[in-house]
Order: sequence, then C-alpha cells, then structure tokens
Amino acid sequence: MKKYLILIVLMLLALVLGGCAGKGFQNQQENENIAGNSENEKEERKQDLETKEEQAKEEPKGEGKGSQESKQESKEQQKGEEKGSQESKQESKEQQKGKENKKDSKKDEESSKKKEASVPALNPDTVVYAEEEVVTTSSVNIRKTPSTDSEVYQTVPRRSPFTRTADDGTWSAVKVGDQEYYIASEYLQLASEVTDNGYLVVIDAGHQAHGNSEQEPIGPGASETKAKVASGTSGCVTGLNEYELTLQVSLKLQAELEARGYQVMMVRTSHDVNISNSERAAVANNAGADAFIRVHANGADDSGEHGILTICPTSANPYMGNLYSQCRSLSECVLDGAVNATGANKKYIWETDSMSGINWCTVPVTIVEMGFMTNPTEDQNMADGGYQQQLAEGIANGLDTYFGN
Ligand SMILES: [Zn+2]
Repeated sequence: MKKYLILIVLMLLALVLGGCAGKGFQNQQENENIAGNSENEKEERKQDLETKEEQAKEEPKGEGKGSQESKQESKEQQKGEEKGSQESKQESKEQQKGKENKKDSKKDEESSKKKEASVPALNPDTVVYAEEEVVTTSSVNIRKTPSTDSEVYQTVPRRSPFTRTADDGTWSAVKVGDQEYYIASEYLQLASEVTDNGYLVVIDAGHQAHGNSEQEPIGPGASETKAKVASGTSGCVTGLNEYELTLQVSLKLQAELEARGYQVMMVRTSHDVNISNSERAAVANNAGADAFIRVHANGADDSGEHGILTICPTSANPYMGNLYSQCRSLSECVLDGAVNATGANKKYIWETDSMSGINWCTVPVTIVEMGFMTNPTEDQNMADGGYQQQLAEGIANGLDTYFGN
C-alpha cells in the first residue's frame, strides 16, 4: 500500500510541476504577444503622426482634393480644403480630436526631425504612377515642388512636350533631364489625345467696311503715328472691295488650316468691325499665336503691275527686330506656297518697319499681298472662288513648310 501511496504522491507532484511548466510557456507567449502589440501600437502611433503631418502641410495650400472616404468627406466639406486619409481607424480618432489636430500636428512637425515633412509632395491617396507622354495646353510654370508656393523652375510655352511619371489629380510630376519637376495637372493633356497639330495660327482679314483715320503710334513707344485702319483698295474690274476679298480668302484659309489640324483664330469674321492694326496684332499676341497671317491685296498706279508679295520687318526693326528671322522665314514660306499653288507672278519679300500691324507684334507675322486689284486679270482671278481656294491652299502649304510639317 505504501508503494501505491508513494506512486500517487509522485504522480501528483508530476502533475503540479507539469502545470507550472505549461504556465511558464504560456507566459512566454503572452509576453511575446504583448511585445507584438506594443510594436503594432508604435506603428499605429507613427502612422497617426505621419497622417497629421501630411494634413498640417496640406492645409495651408488650398489645393487639396476630397478623399474617396465618405466619412472623411463630410468633415472635409466643413473644412473646405483638407485632404483625408484612407485609414478608417484614424479617421474616427481624428474626427473626435477635431481642430486639436492642427495644433498637435504643428507641434509634431516642429519636433519631427524629418526634413521632407515640410516639402510638398504628391497626394499619396490619389497619386497614380504611370509613365505617359503629355503636352502643355497653355503657357505654364514648371515648379520644383507640387505647390503654387513653390519656386518656378521654368515657364514653358503652350504645347511643350513632357514625360509624366505621376499624377495625383492636382499636380503632375514630369521629367526634365534627370530631374523631376511639377506642373498643375489641369494644364496637361495626353499627347495621344491632341487632335490638332499643335500650332495656333491667327488670321487677320485685312481692313473693314469703313476705315478709321484716327491715329495710333506705328509701334510701341513710337512718336510716329498712322491711321488705325486704312480703307483699302478695290477691284478695277469686279468692283470688289479689298475688305470683302480678304475675308473671303481668310475664311477659306481658316477651313483649309483646320482641315490640316491647325488651331485657328480669326481677328474678324464680319465687315462691320472697328479694330485698329495695333489691336489686330494684340489679338495674335494675346493668343500666343505660332504664326500671324495678315491677308491683304495690293493696288498700284500701273495697272500692269501684278503678282504676289509678302511683307516682314527689317532685322533692325526697333520694336520687334528680335523676331526678324522667324518673320522672314514665314514670309518666304508663305510667298513660295501661294505662288506655287496659283502660278502667279512671284514678286519679292518687302522688308519694312512702316507697318503698325507688324511693329506691334510679339509673335511671328507676315502680310501676304495676294495680288493687284488694280490689274484686270489678277482682280478677276482673285474674285474667283476656285482661285481663292488655290491661294488658301498655297498659304497653308507655306505654313506647313514653315512649321516643318
Ligand atoms: Zn490692304
């Protein structure tokens, strides 16, 4: 019996010891869990802090976009311009904290040694990383960071091509050499979606129903003045007025250029206007025209004089001589194009600084004198719709050549 008692005692002892060993193992696991939890909590706190930092740096910009999270949206609608986070856990915390966030996050930002926290970045919630070819839809600033407060690296003209690497819907990252810069996304268009050829041509149908003899300076800062708009010449046989002929051809040129993918802006599409020559130049300047075509017809005392000529400034033009080579090239291209298309007599390129409508230009310009209305044959030719179409196609060919299309 004693043997049995000893055995029972030993078994009980073994059970007690085994239980203790099991507990010890459990404790170890719990400790690991605790350790794990504290790691998680650290991570959460870190994320929370980072989110606050993001909000802090985004709030003053006023360029934020709403998040996709509906909870957050209502808050954003109240606040206006704040960006939201994707973490729903954090949202409820932040909603409770409300405005305290601003103060806290500023403190966090100040105490944080992360320098990048103060540099604007693309919105991580909406950014899409994809390499694609884009063009600028207008003259636009390239910035060093995605913020209108950021330093302007460069200003580029309309239709400048870039490779975009990322877009958060508000700002796009673009490559310039090895560097990354930022352009507001609203001023970028996918190159594949550009339906026109990228060039803007402004067409000025010369003259108007009634000339305007009021004076204007012949160029910026000039003391010399000229009539705002001359009345123009008229057909010796047809009786057609120059302002009528120029609009007929200009409308055909517009259609021809648009069919070729040009963007076209007309200075006038009716006769009943009052636009001075300097104002016509301003239309082209303000539009940022790639070329400004002024359509005119000629007149001379000698009815035998005939043929096409174009007009450009001299290289010494005091107002816009810096554009001489472009104007000269444009004038050559348009003259050759018009002569080749019509078979008309090729006269020459007249270089002069006496034309207000040229002197006021800040964009490449030419005047095309399509022929002499004082020459019976040329007058009748120019009044003919088929010949007008040839002129339009010839001028368009000249523009194609000028732009290298
Ligand atoms: Zn004229």
